[in-house]
Amino acid sequence: MTPSSLAKTNTTRWIAERTAHFDSSGIRRVFDLAAKLKNPINLSIGQPHFDVPDQVKESMIRAIHDGKNGYSPTQGIAPLRERLLADVQRELPNPDRKLLVTSGTSGALNLAMLAMIDPGDEVVIFDPYFVMYAPLVRLASGIPVLVDTNNEFQIDLQRFVEALTQRTKLVLLNSPSNPTGVCLNEASVKEVAEICVQRDIALISDEIYRHFCFDAPFVSPAQFNPDTIVVDGFSKSHAMTGWRLGFVHGPTEVIETMTKLQQYTYVCAPQPVQWAGLSALDCDISSFTQDYRQKRDRIYEGLKDHYEIVRPDGAFYMYPKLPWGTGQAFIEKAIEHDLLVIPGNIFSRHDTHFRLSFANSDEQLDRGIEVLQKIA
Ligand code: PMP
Repeated sequence: MTPSSLAKTNTTRWIAERTAHFDSSGIRRVFDLAAKLKNPINLSIGQPHFDVPDQVKESMIRAIHDGKNGYSPTQGIAPLRERLLADVQRELPNPDRKLLVTSGTSGALNLAMLAMIDPGDEVVIFDPYFVMYAPLVRLASGIPVLVDTNNEFQIDLQRFVEALTQRTKLVLLNSPSNPTGVCLNEASVKEVAEICVQRDIALISDEIYRHFCFDAPFVSPAQFNPDTIVVDGFSKSHAMTGWRLGFVHGPTEVIETMTKLQQYTYVCAPQPVQWAGLSALDCDISSFTQDYRQKRDRIYEGLKDHYEIVRPDGAFYMYPKLPWGTGQAFIEKAIEHDLLVIPGNIFSRHDTHFRLSFANSDEQLDRGIEVLQKIA
């Protein structure tokens, strides 16, 4: 039988309905256009521009040579778990806290949703938000409830309280934020944390950018709500995005349920990467934060007279208002000048802003500033 005589099945029928919630066409379009550019100024990428520190690379190679290549315990290798938990407990004195090592922070987020959301449960997400949140809630059969932040991308407490219903199961916080780079102020973090306690609502805090706070110390809702489920990871702090290492800590019952789910899904985080993660915890990464603070200042100074911008105080993103037109039209104009940024409607139901990442060389940032000044 030749291949041409084989009957073609209708594969569309095989695709589950839940996948319709995962529309990555917007970002993909930017990446497709990017692939065609010869010398792009790429301010679209959500990862550090520095490389993994040498000592971390060496630990990974050593682990591989030492034969640490098999499965690890589902919950993660003991030395890494113990070290992470000791660091956490120094900050958050709650005895009922367990920790699970995950395949990236994404793995932790996914397992947390699967562990806690029942069909129809509502999950409050502050808009703008990290792209993954709403689709993950849908994947777990929940309903994302988007609550707009105020003009400074801070939490509007009245809107938050009004969004809560009998079905609210979970609230998601992310500070410093992707895509805005804004750190939530302490008063609102405390308020949200306490409201969740009073109303028996689970609270997830995505702290993946916690090491990149420029103007004030990091504030975790777990300081005010001992049952906060904290997701964190090494992708941004140590530029290990491709290595897939994250962790989550929270109340014993939640973490044990997540561990059970990990056993039947991801199995464990890659073992050599876990050993590398252990040595990463001994790296001084303060110079990266310093560096991003300077880059923040550089790009903010270059754009503040041309765009309406909330000055970011964390992460490595900025979320300026579109000066004209739709996100798509603006992004196309930027691409005509070899510049890649991301339209805001990927992160929001409003098509009013765009995201740029300042995790790049000063020279690339200066090229980007020049184009953005020109097209404003
Ligand atoms: N949370 C936020 C806010 C992020 O920006 C990212 C990565 N872009 C993640 C989670 C996922 O990170 P990881 O690579 O650890 O899965």
